[in-house]
Amino acid sequence: MDATFLAKIKSNYPDFKFVTGAKFAFRPPKTIVIGPEEPEDASLLLHELGHALSLHRDFNTGAKRLKMEVEAWEKARELASQYGIEMDDEMIEGELDTYREWLHQKSRCKKCGLTCFQTPDGSYHCPRCENF
Ligand SMILES: [Zn+2]
Ligand SMILES: [Zn+2]
Repeated sequence: MDATFLAKIKSNYPDFKFVTGAKFAFRPPKTIVIGPEEPEDASLLLHELGHALSLHRDFNTGAKRLKMEVEAWEKARELASQYGIEMDDEMIEGELDTYREWLHQKSRCKKCGLTCFQTPDGSYHCPRCENF
């Protein structure tokens, strides 16, 4: 990642703590983990910053999680134009597809394959296998 860009981000967001780690992540409330260097790392950093600025806290609920990811990328796009960073739309779609796929897998009943419904606490229930 361009050192000047990173320095700019750090000085523009003094409230956040930037640490390095195994992969890009946002740890609420204020820590942004910078992952290993790669072609898209500036976009990924802006994405995590997008989570932080959107005040995302609870990452548990499936459907909400996808919404948060979309929101963070929208925020990242705004920031990218502000900082003159080029964003790869295909990369973003790919990232979102991973979550869509994850959500789909998660919402399938492990026993019968039926699509489950989610209760507000974030857990999934099968209408066929579970009795209420
Ligand atoms: Zn994210
Ligand atoms: Zn089932």
